[in-house]
Amino acid sequence: MAKYKLEYIWLDGYTPVANLRGKTQVKDFDAFPTLDQLPMWGFDGSSTRQAEGHNSDCMLQPVACYPDPTKENGVLVMCEVMMPDGKTPHPSNARATIMDDSGTWFGFEQEYFLYKDGAPLGFPNGGFPAPQGKYYTGVGYENVGDLAREIVDTHLELCLEAGINHEGINAEVAKGQWEFQIFGKGSKTAADQVWMARYLLMRLTEAYQVQVIWHCKPLGVDVDWNGSGMHANFSTEFMREVGGKAYFEKLMAAFDLYKNEHIAVYGPDNHLRLTGLHETQSIDKFNYGIANRGASVRVPHSFVNAGYKGYLEDRRPNSAGDPYKIAGRILQTIATVPTV
Ligand code: ADP
Ligand code: MN
Ligand code: MN
Ligand code: MN
Repeated sequence: MAKYKLEYIWLDGYTPVANLRGKTQVKDFDAFPTLDQLPMWGFDGSSTRQAEGHNSDCMLQPVACYPDPTKENGVLVMCEVMMPDGKTPHPSNARATIMDDSGTWFGFEQEYFLYKDGAPLGFPNGGFPAPQGKYYTGVGYENVGDLAREIVDTHLELCLEAGINHEGINAEVAKGQWEFQIFGKGSKTAADQVWMARYLLMRLTEAYQVQVIWHCKPLGVDVDWNGSGMHANFSTEFMREVGGKAYFEKLMAAFDLYKNEHIAVYGPDNHLRLTGLHETQSIDKFNYGIANRGASVRVPHSFVNAGYKGYLEDRRPNSAGDPYKIAGRILQTIATVPTV
């Protein structure tokens, strides 16, 4: 037997953006626990905007677990929040509303800023650095500053050790802005891992006195600095294996029909980012385009070359969006389109 430190992690009830919460319980296990060995647990929902004070218990149902690379016998436990009966999903629990489908794959490209003392890492005191141009995938102190590289590389190592399926990282267009990509098979896998990767990044940066800014346009709209997105790449088994131009056109018509419902869960303040500039489409329009980075949905060349088969990229979700809500909405729209 060994003492395992179980970090139960969940999303609170704040709107429009939920915060990550976590607390530790210590339990004895013979070996690294499996998901079904992890017990339900409770917390005070009145402190997280998930319950009233007089009846404040909420329940935590473990739904995914990962080794915690920073601790001996540590386990990171992603949880869904349930009502006191332990069975009914709490209204804040968006994960519970995602259709289960092992044939759906998502790849999220999470962009974010790292801030210190109120400005992006590498910004001079009280001012702006040279205009955007050399920061994207850049190297050298003048392009990335002195701290960011250590943080993003350490974050990548932590995530890989936790079994999170990162596909890559890169410096982004604005100074102090970065991206990681996470891919997962199954309708909830990538979303679980994005939340866990966000958790690991926020925990890592505490000791650096660096803040992760998930907001989609932290420098505002009046300056020529990019915002942050979270492009959602998606494919169903049908899209990968059957697809076809007729189905693709029906699918895009459904995306057009439900464009407002999509935008509603694609992250707050997205009107500041989806302006039609900086490789975005305006928030009130829907379009798609082959290899078009100014479109709502980008159709990769590979998709067309394969006979309209493969994955599509919805470029509208922003960096502060909830990948559970995004995945859920995309699947809901796909489900309206007949495959025969
Ligand atoms: P770009 O920056 O050019 O948009 P990235 O390489 O950053 O491209 O991201 C592409 C994303 O597409 C990755 O997250 C990858 O996991 C995802 N992806 C690739 N193939 C599929 C697929 N079949 N289904 C869903 N997502 C996919
Ligand atoms: Mn990318
Ligand atoms: Mn990017
Ligand atoms: Mn992209």
